[in-house]
Amino acid sequence: MRIAIAGAGAMGSKFGWHLKKAGNDVTLIDTWDRNIAAIRENGVVARVKDEEIAEKMPIYSPEEIDEQHESVDLLIVFTKSMQLENMLNSLKPIISKDTYVLCLLNGLGHEDVLERFVTRDHIIMGVTMWASMMTAPGHITFANDNGNIEIQCLDPKGKDETQKIVKILTDAGLNASYSENVMYSIWRKACVNGVVNALCALLDADCKQFGHTKEADELTRNIVQEFADVAQYEGVNLDRKEVIEHVESLFDTPHYPSMHQDLVQNNRPTEIDYIDGAVWRKGLKHSVATPYCAFITRLIHAKEDILNVK
Ligand code: NAD
Repeated sequence: MRIAIAGAGAMGSKFGWHLKKAGNDVTLIDTWDRNIAAIRENGVVARVKDEEIAEKMPIYSPEEIDEQHESVDLLIVFTKSMQLENMLNSLKPIISKDTYVLCLLNGLGHEDVLERFVTRDHIIMGVTMWASMMTAPGHITFANDNGNIEIQCLDPKGKDETQKIVKILTDAGLNASYSENVMYSIWRKACVNGVVNALCALLDADCKQFGHTKEADELTRNIVQEFADVAQYEGVNLDRKEVIEHVESLFDTPHYPSMHQDLVQNNRPTEIDYIDGAVWRKGLKHSVATPYCAFITRLIHAKEDILNVK
C-alpha cells in the first residue's frame, strides 16, 4: 500500500516514523521548508526514552508532489484543521477515486471538507490518544507510550478496506481498532479540547492549575452541556455525566494542552474555529444557544490578535 502523510508535524512525523519502521511505503508531504530540509538530511528523528532514533523517508512539498502525479492508496492527513483544505487542494494530483483518506485531526466538521475531495466510502474518520511534540524541525518526542486509534469509514462500503488499514496501523505499533460509532468518540474528545485546550490557553495555565480553580467545575459543565446540546442535532447523543468525568480526570495533570503550546508558547494560530467555534457555528444552524462556546472563541481570536500570531 502506497501511503502518503500530509502534514509532517508532531503527529504526521510520528505516524510516518512508525509506519516506515514497520516496512511500509511512506511519503511525507509538508509545507514548512526548514522541516523538509531537516528530514531530507537526517530523516525523522524521534526521541524514544533516552535514545534518538532516525527513520529516513521521502518528503516533498505539495508543489513538488504536483510533478509526480502518482496517486496513493492511503492519504493520512495530519495538518492543523485550518491548513486541511489548502493541503488537499494542492494534493489533487495524488488523490484518485481509489484513494482512502484517513483523518485523525482534533475538532469537528473535517468530514465536510474531505467530502469535497473523495466519496464518503473512502473517508475514514478517527480519533487518536497518541501524543507527540516537535522539539525542532525534523525532531519529535513521543509524549506517551500507551495511545490508541479508533477509526471508522463514513460508509459501510469502505469497512473491509478500513479494517486492512487498522491492521497496518496496529502492526506498526499504533494500536488501532475499528469503531462502530467514531463520531461519538470524536465529539467526546472535542469536549476535552473545548474545555481544557481553550481555557488553559486563555488563562495561561496547565490542566492542573485550571482544574484546581473554584470555577473549573461550573465552566466544564456549561461547556460540555453546549457541546452535548449541539451534538444531539448532529446525531450524536453524548453521555454528559461520563464526558464531564472524563474531562475532569485531566485536572490532576500538570500538562499544557496543545492550544496553549500553539498560542502562548509558539505564537501560532489555534484550531479554535474547529472546536468551540464549530459548536457555536453548528448551534447557530440548529438554533441552539452556545454562549460559552461563542465567548471563548471570540476571546481566543482576540488573544491571537494581541499576540500577533502567524
Ligand atoms: P503540528 O503543528 O506539529 O504540525 C502541523 C503542520 O504545521 C505541519 O505541516 C508542520 O510541519 C507545521 N508546523 C509545525 N510547527 C511549525 C512551525 N514552527 N512553523 C511552521 N510550520 C510548522 O500539528 P500536530 O500536533 O501534528 O497536530 C496535527 C493534528 O493532529 C491537529 O489537528 C491536532 O489537534 C491533532 N492531534 C495532535 C496531537 C499531538 O499530540 N500533537 C494528538 C492528537 C491529535
